Parts: sequence; C-alpha cells; structure tokens
Amino acid sequence: MTGRYRVDTTDTTLGDIDVIAVERVVNGDNGPHPTLTDAEQQFAAVAMFRRGAGPRTVAEAVGATERVVQRWRREAGLVPQARGEPPPCGTRSAYQRHLRRGETPDHACREANNAAHRRLLATGSTLAGGRA
Ligand SMILES: [Zn+2]
Repeated sequence: MTGRYRVDTTDTTLGDIDVIAVERVVNGDNGPHPTLTDAEQQFAAVAMFRRGAGPRTVAEAVGATERVVQRWRREAGLVPQARGEPPPCGTRSAYQRHLRRGETPDHACREANNAAHRRLLATGSTLAGGRA
C-alpha cells in the first residue's frame, strides 16, 4: 500500500509549534517579531542554545526570563556540567585538562585516559556507557 506514511516538508507547524514564527525569532529577522507560545519559546530557546547563543541573548530573543530559558536548556540536556565545576580527577576530561594546563596527570586520570584509549581501540568510541 502506498501513501500510508507521508512526510510533508512544507509543513510550517510541528505539533503545537509554528516553525516560521520560531525561525523569525531565532534568526532575528527584521520586522515585528511574532509573539510565541510557551512551547514555541522553549523550542526557539533550545534551538538557539544549540547554536551557541548565551542565556541573555536567548531570553531577549524569545521573550522569556534568563531563569526560564536556563531551565529549558537544562531540560534539553544542553548543560553538561555546571560552570565552575571542573570534571573530577579519574576522568578523561580531567586528564585532558591536566595536559592543557601543562600539569602531569595523576594516576587516576592516567588510568581513565588509558581506559578510554582501550575503549577507542575496541569500540571506536572513547565513551563508556556514560560521559567519559
Ligand atoms: Zn587528575
């Protein structure tokens, strides 16, 4: 049977979200900005964070508070670690940080890096189940 599943790429909505309105806000197009619904604000905010925008920029663009857009960012899983909390020793991130700082990695970090290296050889990825 054909025509059972359809994809219409000219759709301008995504569930409750008016993609055109979101696009205009995210892209900062000239002209009056459409007022976004909550769902659209969140969608736009996450899209902007993914492109590296800062919370203040995002908040102003979508018309929400920084506090709210930060929450959306966390909910989207876009904040890997809180600012000011470096990766702990015994992780590959910490090992790399030691190297960046010209420090000699400690035993725990060397072990973590070796383990990541072995995983890379074995699986093609340095990532274990969780974040390495
Ligand atoms: Zn260390």
